[in-house]
Amino acid sequence: MSIKESLLEIKNSLPDTVTLVAVSKTKPVSDLEEAYAAGQRIFGENKIQEMTQKWEVMPKDIQWHMIGHVQTNKVKYMSEYVSLVHGVDSFKLLKEINKQAKKHNRVIECLLQMHIAEESTKFGLNKSELKDLIASDDFKSLDNIKVTGLMGMATFTEDTEQIKKEFGTLKQIYNTLQDIKSTNLDVKILSMGMSGDYKLAIEQGSTMVRIGSSIFGSRNYL
Ligand SMILES: *Cc1c(COP(=O)(O)O)cnc(C)c1O
Repeated sequence: MSIKESLLEIKNSLPDTVTLVAVSKTKPVSDLEEAYAAGQRIFGENKIQEMTQKWEVMPKDIQWHMIGHVQTNKVKYMSEYVSLVHGVDSFKLLKEINKQAKKHNRVIECLLQMHIAEESTKFGLNKSELKDLIASDDFKSLDNIKVTGLMGMATFTEDTEQIKKEFGTLKQIYNTLQDIKSTNLDVKILSMGMSGDYKLAIEQGSTMVRIGSSIFGSRNYL
């Protein structure tokens, strides 16, 4: 299937409540152009330099989502244009995004990444770190970021019950944040689900899926 066919098939299968992020990391601009021509306007990348190169040459009505782990010293390269940062898992990073957003007179939307998988390698906050972070005065003083949701990645496993359980846990945490609102906290996005597990994620309440290989084909890492 072509990129266009795969994209449209997935898009048409998603409930109206679920937003599709087309994960184009490692893929050439020509692939993104094909998806763009088929109507896709939200792209996800996991390296700031690569995303910036693509942003420079692609149409300006695209929303660029940073889905990978962000190094503090690289935030400045995307702060002019990034529309959503999915993988925020420390106050230090949030503070740097706030600082760089201020320079551009913007408010940058962020998702807090939660650790839900069994693997210890995956980044993310636990429940008490999340609570402490959003309750702190330091957090409340950040005027140039807005936390609009949570993101998480399930364990890489064939065990669908395990995956469901992890997504279910994230959904529960998401639910507990619905009643807490402030100027920089308004939780309405639940980013969970990739090519291999997005159907399970949607069953568990995902509102945003990040799909790469099922649209663009498998990636070759050098
Ligand atoms: C690469 C990546 C994806 C997409 O993965 P696929 O399996 O190709 O759909 C989603 N989320 C994150 C954080 C990623 O790094």
